[in-house]
Amino acid sequence: MPDHPDPALLEQLKAHLEYYAESGIDRFDPKAVRGALRLAASVRGEGKSPSRRPQQSEPSAQASLFAESVPESVRDSSLEEVRDDLGDCQRCKLCQDRTHIVFGAGNPQARLVFVGEGPGAEEDRQGLPFVGRAGQLLTRMIEAIQMRRDEVYICNVVKCRPPGNRTPQEDEVTACSPFLERQLAVLQPEVICCLGLTAAQTLLQVRTPIGRLRGKIHSFRGARLVATYHPAYLLRNPPAKREVWEDLKRIRSLLSSS
Ligand code: SF4
Repeated sequence: MPDHPDPALLEQLKAHLEYYAESGIDRFDPKAVRGALRLAASVRGEGKSPSRRPQQSEPSAQASLFAESVPESVRDSSLEEVRDDLGDCQRCKLCQDRTHIVFGAGNPQARLVFVGEGPGAEEDRQGLPFVGRAGQLLTRMIEAIQMRRDEVYICNVVKCRPPGNRTPQEDEVTACSPFLERQLAVLQPEVICCLGLTAAQTLLQVRTPIGRLRGKIHSFRGARLVATYHPAYLLRNPPAKREVWEDLKRIRSLLSSS
């Protein structure tokens, strides 16, 4: 151990430990620690990547709403162009109660994009995605894989808050998801992390439960797609953080191997 540990590494370690503590993990299996050290070494390029590759998903048998390649008609040159086209959108009934359209935020060059379901009360008030309690947890999840929130891009399937935070209805998803599609076409991330059922089912065009979608690596137009639980669900169900941690490690591994 060096006399003066790297402050950035200490920050990352702190984020890890906070995440573990919130996950209810208060002791460590020595084998797991050795595995984590090997993973950390591979992330830093000091060793071989973990030999065990995560399971790849079977191609979906269902037809996709989103074509395999980006159609000419949805090729925008920038996120601003997509936002301008969205305008003061009234394409679905979610416009009636919203305060702000929550378009998305983050790094337009992001390698990793998080897609949630829709804005909550705080997001609607501020016009920014994932800024409430679930957003704070998402920030810690990002930091736990040694990234900063300003390195990633965060958006939702629907851009206006569903009343009472209900699940967006099919007509609302159909009206709004073309804008998500256009955002992703501009961003061209290497990895997409779907937070929760709505995001995963919308992008993968399946009706499979989230418990069966997670734990695999899917594809979306050249990007790897990992589905995991929504942070709001984790706040209600802390034991699920263990599974989310596995998904986060999968994302870290994908980013470090590309
Ligand atoms: S949810 Fe999307 S489609 Fe519906 S009004 Fe808001 S921006 Fe428009």
